[in-house]
Amino acid sequence: MEIKSVGVVGAGTMGNGIAHVFARSGYNVVLCDVEDRFLQRALDTIGKNLEREASKGKITVEQKDAAFGRIHTTIDREALATVDFVIEAATEKFEIKSQLFRDLDRICRPEIILATNTSSISITKLAALTKRPEKVIGMHFFNPVPVMKLVEVIRGLATAQETFEAVRDLAVKLEKTPVEVNDFPGFVSNRVLMPLLNEAMFAVMEGVATPEAVDEVFKLGMAHPMGPLTLADFIGLDVCLDIMRVLESGLGDPKYRPCPLLIKMVDAGWLGRKSGRGFYKY
Ligand code: NAD
Repeated sequence: MEIKSVGVVGAGTMGNGIAHVFARSGYNVVLCDVEDRFLQRALDTIGKNLEREASKGKITVEQKDAAFGRIHTTIDREALATVDFVIEAATEKFEIKSQLFRDLDRICRPEIILATNTSSISITKLAALTKRPEKVIGMHFFNPVPVMKLVEVIRGLATAQETFEAVRDLAVKLEKTPVEVNDFPGFVSNRVLMPLLNEAMFAVMEGVATPEAVDEVFKLGMAHPMGPLTLADFIGLDVCLDIMRVLESGLGDPKYRPCPLLIKMVDAGWLGRKSGRGFYKY
């Protein structure tokens, strides 16, 4: 089946970026959230980001206008009954996603693929809530979506080869680079990245070095564009803690123990850039 129209569920940081890249590649997009103000905020962001791409000459003004015109917003989930593919990018809470997958399974045509952009929830578990587990898959984009090339394509235990190939091809059509991954906690990206950030926090907690010094080591010695503590502040320390807990409980290995300093900072409401204070002050 040729995919022409796409449903994007959740219009936050990731959902607006995902809607942007699908529309830019010629797909009609139905962008869905729970309140009109979230949809309006997403449209404002997409408009600004498309504008920036046009001003840099990455797309023409006509392409910008056409892409924007392909995005339709709604708070009515039933509008997804006609789309050819759905990607869910709602809040990272199992209760929200499990209800959504049950609803999407009921609303969407039985032949279409239901993908999720989750960073840490089991694809296999979400798939098991539907009558089409072979058509459920992870399609994990990176922030900012219009810029970052990678898409982790994550097979749940029941995901069919056909589903995997369709999503891999879709990622290529979006001018992204798909990488195949199996469904384990944290997939590859967070399983490898988060313990690095967590260890950098242990180094600060144990007085090995200041946050500035740890970040300098990674920028100058390993050519990372951003040091691990700057990156943790950017991602959000609460998000980092949630992911460490998913790794710790999902893999059952004490090596994923969250750094006590991370726990303390989250308790204090020091969540990084978004709260004005993390390892640095903003
Ligand atoms: P966000 O908080 O910015 O946006 C989530 C949106 O989902 C909100 O607008 C919220 O109103 C909406 N929502 C909640 N319940 C809904 C429902 N039932 N139906 C429709 N919309 C609903 O979150 P985000 O950062 O965009 O993350 C979304 C997903 O993407 C999560 O699963 C997250 O793990 C994943 N992710 C995030 C990043 C990142 O860097 N932020 C990177 C990769 C993957």
